[in-house]
Amino acid sequence: MELTKVTDRVWFYPFEKERDRPILGYIKGDNMSIAVDAGHSEAHTKEFYSALEGAGLPLPTVTVITHWHWDHTFGMHSVNGICIANSLTDSYLRQFRQRIDEKGIEAFLSLDGCIRREYEGSKPVIITFPDIVFTDELKIDAGNCPVRIFKTAAPHTDDSTLVFVEREKVLFLGDAAGGTFPTWGRNPELCRQLVDTIDSLDADICLDSHWYPETKHEVTDDLRSV
Ligand SMILES: [Zn+2]
Repeated sequence: MELTKVTDRVWFYPFEKERDRPILGYIKGDNMSIAVDAGHSEAHTKEFYSALEGAGLPLPTVTVITHWHWDHTFGMHSVNGICIANSLTDSYLRQFRQRIDEKGIEAFLSLDGCIRREYEGSKPVIITFPDIVFTDELKIDAGNCPVRIFKTAAPHTDDSTLVFVEREKVLFLGDAAGGTFPTWGRNPELCRQLVDTIDSLDADICLDSHWYPETKHEVTDDLRSV
């Protein structure tokens, strides 16, 4: 797969249904590059990095995590540079690793066929934790490219982080607009709160982790329909 260019400073590596891999975002400032999410496994992260190298783009120095789910985080041990996540994401990753340390990886592998396909061939499941943890919001200027990283109420998980590339008007949603695993039900009140958050941003393009680019109104209309 190839990187998809969104604006002069934003790209993403596309999602894949078979292994439930989310898009991996890439933001290029004048001073540093920021990735959005680490990937489902080391293999996923490395595939993303090969695509960056193929496009002549430097590897990210910072990786921002949108929420704790395995498909976004279990490649964290193999990223270039550091990882940033909110404190609840950090806490959920620590709980999940403790469970795997105590009970083994079978319970994890049995969650979904996509996970078994990602880890086929007895690949190791490695969970690491963020290097920097924030509570509500963090702002990084990647170099003439301010990026707002902030926690939001959302129907998918209660540790959802959004990443807004302000001047590019690109919003990385993670899975925030989706339902709760594994039933995919969406709480209407949480959908309304996420609509308020998204409406407050001057975003032209929204990137959901398991879908194609959408406009802000496509995302908010869908959330309002719940
Ligand atoms: Zn998720």
